[in-house]
Amino acid sequence: MAYDDQNIFAKILREEIPCKKVYEDDYVLAFEDIDPKAPVHILVIPKGAYVSIDDFGINAPADEIVAFYKALALIVKEQGVEQDGFRCIANTGVHGGQEVPHFHMHVLGGKAIGPMVVS
Ligand code: 5GP
Repeated sequence: MAYDDQNIFAKILREEIPCKKVYEDDYVLAFEDIDPKAPVHILVIPKGAYVSIDDFGINAPADEIVAFYKALALIVKEQGVEQDGFRCIANTGVHGGQEVPHFHMHVLGGKAIGPMVVS
């Protein structure tokens, strides 16, 4: 799937629309989900143009991949969820229910969010 630079997260990266930023470095941006499903619901995205987690894993250079997971770990600590735990979700493609075609990791926590449910 080709990257669509009109997707909402590309617009957030270009600062065409606002976000509640919680973290930024050269490779990564993280911001609050507009429709939070838990007390902590952060979206962590690479600044590079990757459609999905598999696109990112295959096509991103190693420094971008390392930066992404280092940032995620920092964000989890900053959000105060590393002790009690959290869930990371990368919805992917049609069957994965992905709405925004720019790779993003949901970080959910701040309460017990129960078993993983697949319906
Ligand atoms: P997906 O279903 O693609 O995994 O998740 C997309 C997420 O992006 C959803 O949880 C949705 O609430 C969030 N979202 C959609 N539009 C915006 C927006 O304009 N700003 C923010 N902060 N989140 C958004």
